[in-house]
Amino acid sequence: MEPTEKLTRSLSRDLGQCIHDFGLISEGDRIMVCLSGGKDSYTMLHLLERMRKRSPVNYTLVAVHLDQGHPGYDGSPLENWLKANEYDYKILREDTYTIVVDKIEEGKTYCSLCSRLRRGVLYNAAQELGCTKIALGHHRDDALETLLLNLMFTGSLKSMPPKLISDDERNVVIRPLLYVAEKDIIEYSSLMQFPILPCDLCGSQENLMRKQVKKVLTDLEGLAPRVRESMLAALMNVKPSHLFDKKLWATLNLSVARESEERISPLPNSRRLPLLS
Ligand code: SF4
Repeated sequence: MEPTEKLTRSLSRDLGQCIHDFGLISEGDRIMVCLSGGKDSYTMLHLLERMRKRSPVNYTLVAVHLDQGHPGYDGSPLENWLKANEYDYKILREDTYTIVVDKIEEGKTYCSLCSRLRRGVLYNAAQELGCTKIALGHHRDDALETLLLNLMFTGSLKSMPPKLISDDERNVVIRPLLYVAEKDIIEYSSLMQFPILPCDLCGSQENLMRKQVKKVLTDLEGLAPRVRESMLAALMNVKPSHLFDKKLWATLNLSVARESEERISPLPNSRRLPLLS
């Protein structure tokens, strides 16, 4: 089997498993696939389309890309790729860059306001395009970094939900790549030669703390080579009785923990940790 085909199958399995586990796609859905022009979103769109063609569930996709007015932006490689692959798509243009530069003091990071504005535009577009779901390309490693960031800085034990409803209840957001490892996406994206748009056009600093946490995970791999797989498995294998959240205990009607659950067992020798029992 060709390496690309092998990887396509393996990534599709992970994507399909996540969609299945959390009911991310239903009959009749029109899914807005957010296409930033990075490796993650191209991979997501390509895999969702592949699955759509084989699925007994009827749903449609529309790829949406937002031109935020960054200096030097050239979205033509992305648009040409969408046309060549016959995707239904929409390119939005909204100069959020000027707003961000105007509002944020020099030396401060743009990312938080920039992504908030982007989210607003995309949420509105989903309504206008009649979409029932919005798909984002966050993957396993994004989820693990978020978990660590929350542990280290917010005092909360949370990662990224596979499916969420927006605060104004207008949009349902899905993250079908959450079981997919970033290293596989990097390899796939290079094999598929997706026309990646550079992500630092604004000259802004990608969240520095996230970069450092990424490095922490890489360093941990020196100690525990399968740390990322184990952490993903942990997110799918939560033992509420071994956490000290009294509201959770009350919600689950817990009054005492089981001793057997205190034992530490090694990780099974399986790549597909989502299937851990
Ligand atoms: S890196 Fe640039 S485009 Fe990305 S969120 Fe930050 S400011 Fe926005």
